[in-house]
Amino acid sequence: MQAIDLKKIKEMQGVERIILESNSFKLVSREFRSKPTIIKLNGNVNIGSNKITIIAGPCAVESKKQLLEISKSLKNAGASILRGGAFKPRTSPYSFQGLEKKGLKLLAKMREETGLPIVTEVMSPEDVDLVANYADILQIGTRNMQNYSLLKNVGKINKPVLLKRGMSATIEEFLLSAEYIVSNGNSKVVLCERGIRTFEKMTRNTLDLSIIPIIKRLSHLPIIVDPSHATGKRELVEPMAKAAVAAGADGIMVEVHSNPEKALVDGNQSLKLEDFSKLMYELVPVARAVGRGV
Ligand code: PEP
Ligand code: MN
Repeated sequence: MQAIDLKKIKEMQGVERIILESNSFKLVSREFRSKPTIIKLNGNVNIGSNKITIIAGPCAVESKKQLLEISKSLKNAGASILRGGAFKPRTSPYSFQGLEKKGLKLLAKMREETGLPIVTEVMSPEDVDLVANYADILQIGTRNMQNYSLLKNVGKINKPVLLKRGMSATIEEFLLSAEYIVSNGNSKVVLCERGIRTFEKMTRNTLDLSIIPIIKRLSHLPIIVDPSHATGKRELVEPMAKAAVAAGADGIMVEVHSNPEKALVDGNQSLKLEDFSKLMYELVPVARAVGRGV
């Protein structure tokens, strides 16, 4: 992938300069780069290519036993990237906050065991280097989409960033947050739609699938969908994952647990191991219908 040349941008003249000086997104726009960005990871995994990227794993890393059982099953079922939170942004300060550094170490061990690249959340600017030492992709959670010091710090590292849409963020605000990362030097950004807050109470959030074709028109960055946090309900994950692929998403990220009833975080929205294998199988014809593979 071509690195963004910040010096060249500063030298832009005419219309390009006017676009640069407006307050909207530029470097992440289709005008700036007409070809879609493909983010390459180790082990032949990439995001944004013709092949849909499947990211799966527990909401939180809980123990070595838990992570090993889930990771092996996901690998066998064909997942491409392992997810798992070590630093957990919880609504209540009394809820499980994650295993932190121990969790990062367990994730790195699972990469060794399974070969799957790992994605995990970084919550604060001072932890960026620590998380980058272990993870293949750094996740910025919905609550931090507008944490500008964090965005600037992940903009200075050389690892891909999975940026989740703020739960009340417009698409323009979302792209401007991506712009923070890219304008600080890191062009490897993956956008993630994870549902927005509406008046609807039947679902945890409301999945805004129309963002996919909108982003495809406005930006060259890949976009994936997280139907787990978008719906909050296990039974809605499979239909919404299929809908996301049908709408042109470059991948999906789903929460999976070996024992959802006992999960420390987000058990209600976690697929069982066998549900995930079934989903992988059923996504194939949906992807094929839109000219893609899984
Ligand atoms: C997560 O993916 O673990 C998570 C906390 O998601 P979000 O930031 O979208 O709520
Ligand atoms: Mn979760």
